[in-house]
Amino acid sequence: MSAVTDASKLMNNYSRWPIRLVKGKGNTVWDEQGNEYLDCTSGIAVTSLGHVPPRVSERLQQQLGQLWHTSNLFEHPLQEQLAGKLAALSGLDRAFFCNSGAEANEAAIKLARRWQQKVKGEQRYEIITFQQSFHGRTLATLTATGQDKVKDGFAPLPEGFVTVPYNDLAALTEAISARTCAVLLELVQGEGGVTPADPAWVRALEQLCAKTGVLLIIDEVQTGIGRTGTWFAYQQYGIKPDIVSLAKGLGSGFPVGAILAREEVGEAFSPGTHGSTFGGNPLAMAAGLATIEVIEQERLLERVNELSRYLLSRLERIKQAHPAKVADVRGKGLLLGVELTQPVADVLAYMREKRVLALQAGPQVIRLLPSFVSTEAELDRLAEVLDAAIAAV
Ligand SMILES: *Cc1c(COP(=O)(O)O)cnc(C)c1O
Repeated sequence: MSAVTDASKLMNNYSRWPIRLVKGKGNTVWDEQGNEYLDCTSGIAVTSLGHVPPRVSERLQQQLGQLWHTSNLFEHPLQEQLAGKLAALSGLDRAFFCNSGAEANEAAIKLARRWQQKVKGEQRYEIITFQQSFHGRTLATLTATGQDKVKDGFAPLPEGFVTVPYNDLAALTEAISARTCAVLLELVQGEGGVTPADPAWVRALEQLCAKTGVLLIIDEVQTGIGRTGTWFAYQQYGIKPDIVSLAKGLGSGFPVGAILAREEVGEAFSPGTHGSTFGGNPLAMAAGLATIEVIEQERLLERVNELSRYLLSRLERIKQAHPAKVADVRGKGLLLGVELTQPVADVLAYMREKRVLALQAGPQVIRLLPSFVSTEAELDRLAEVLDAAIAAV
């Protein structure tokens, strides 16, 4: 039987690049014709250890021969191990496992509402989010998302979400009321343009939440598990959230999501209140445990910071070389953005022709997400091709 190579039976919900990848190793991916690409997308901040990282692969293969799925009817040693690990790294006490970022945020919203309404006994349900945020594609998480394009055609949307400007304390203060349940925040807006939150604003926001009894949920789906140079981005802001959501980088490419919560808040999920058939399955837990082990044992957080400084200095030089075309260079760790004064689509297409893959974050921002096992030579190649692409457009 010949392989099916016809996209006409797929729904047309993605605008895909015309590249058909079939193999990956480290930071290199290959297409059907054998062309080799340098991957600076990491599958949208997922394959942080590169493609098919050997120790995660071994751990998964061992688990594949042992047990794939049990459901959550049973006690679960691997979930307990990963929850313990995440608690030690985050300072938060309890974990719930699911399969994606949207599901993690969905769980965070449910936990926050249930805690306010059942534990605290207060009629608080409203979730405050921010313009240009991205929280997922389920009905609740697309409603939480501060970008109209993801909502088009999906009305009626769930009630109880309010969106205010990012980095704006007056707007947030104004929005908080006796109905407010939680604030849901990305510390670096990933999809929305690689925009970091202002540290003074974040500290004031934390204090405001504490004073008004509002829960603080940090969406670390893109920033978590080392991407910004610490295990979690909130650790650089000196704050302690009530709930944190995780997904992308947690399983090195194996689907897994999670929320972490303070002990008291986590208690709102009592037996029967929330669940997921696949959530926390043994393969996903093995991938998560191995990913964290590799980051720890190979000291990759330090490496993320080194590589970040290296790439940022190269990007600053590109900005100086093209002052009319590059408006800004920003980001944290290996979540970096180059804002142009024009649309970036042609720049990315030029880079793809030169076999370097990079992403977009909004119409005018190039998003760079190299893996934690990148070499300086690979980042040099990225910078050279980006420089040539900006010069050419
Ligand atoms: C990608 C992303 C999500 C959604 O994750 P999915 O796994 O695609 O559902 C949510 N929040 C942030 C910050 C993200 O970057």
